[in-house]
Amino acid sequence: MKELLLRNVRPFGGALTDILIRDGRIARIGKAEASTAEVEDGGGAIAIPGLVEAHAHLDKSLWGMGWHVHQAGPALEDKISTERRLRRELNIDPARQSARQVALAASHGTTAIRSHVDVDTDQKLWCFEGVAATRQRFRDVMDIEIVAFPQSGLMIRPGTLELMDEALANGADVVGGLDPCGIDRDPKGQLDAIFGLAQKHGKPVDIHLHEADDLGAFSMEMIIERTRALGMQGKVTVSHAFCLGMTDRARAAALTEHLAHQDIAIATTAPASRPVPLAAELRRAGVRLCAGSDGIRDTWGPYGNLDMLERALFIGLRNNFRNDADVEYALHICTQGGADVMEIADYGLREGAFADIVLLDAETVPEAVAARPKRKLVLKRGKPVARDGQALFTVE
Ligand SMILES: [Zn+2]
Repeated sequence: MKELLLRNVRPFGGALTDILIRDGRIARIGKAEASTAEVEDGGGAIAIPGLVEAHAHLDKSLWGMGWHVHQAGPALEDKISTERRLRRELNIDPARQSARQVALAASHGTTAIRSHVDVDTDQKLWCFEGVAATRQRFRDVMDIEIVAFPQSGLMIRPGTLELMDEALANGADVVGGLDPCGIDRDPKGQLDAIFGLAQKHGKPVDIHLHEADDLGAFSMEMIIERTRALGMQGKVTVSHAFCLGMTDRARAAALTEHLAHQDIAIATTAPASRPVPLAAELRRAGVRLCAGSDGIRDTWGPYGNLDMLERALFIGLRNNFRNDADVEYALHICTQGGADVMEIADYGLREGAFADIVLLDAETVPEAVAARPKRKLVLKRGKPVARDGQALFTVE
């Protein structure tokens, strides 16, 4: 039996207390008696559950490879084809690059990641196999869920569906999809194929939907219809969902109501550059929301750092969240919201849950979101994996 006592911490910024951890789980929250456990003194730090990165691309970052001079044109298709070309030219090795991102994410207090991973007829399963190796190698420090993601299109690149099927048979956790109209120009074909794979393998679905306005709404209606018909409530996520930020608010409200009925979750990156789903409206309607960094420092763009506390700040800024309760909700999206979408069992800061815990020096949770202090201590299943903003393990 292994015990660790976190002394003098404040769960969610509340009253000072202690957290006793036993065999990787939270055994008790309350002032501790004299104990034989190993002790970490939190010094009054806030304790929150591990941050959840619910939309990443672990296979494609150039993190640690020097500054990349951006080459891709502005259209989505330019970014996709430029990336396919540069992957081999620059040797963006998915195993190495995903490992680097695991260390980066852990240093920021992330304890679980859902990563979309490219599957296409050029790379075949290279990216999947690299990230799967990282998932296995770092299974004690990070929960990683892999989405088999047809980044280059499904219907327009014959052979992709069979590769997706193979990835799912070999351990991919989620069926991905991408702009069924905009990329494949065959929404019925792509969505029937994706939902068919989900049924065959008994896996959830997570679809990138960049399509705006009416086109996005049309695709979303087809996703909603399939979710309903196949009884996949609670198993479908739409990432980005920019169409929900459309100016036709009546149509967005109707879509939102259907999303709530079918329990379809929305993953957002809260980008500054696009219309976005409005977090407060989704929350009022009962639609679950999670968040992610998306690709960071890759051939798509120069930004990002996998810091989900910073992502909570972006959500707050993008949604004009100012009062404390709203800013706390922004963090909720980046913790519990992601855990719900990833269906992480026994998540949270409560007795019996896994001891995935982050300590932050701040007065309140909203202050932590606004100031983004270095993560003082990060525990994964009760084991320290990062301290003072540095991962405690090496990846090279
Ligand atoms: Zn993405």
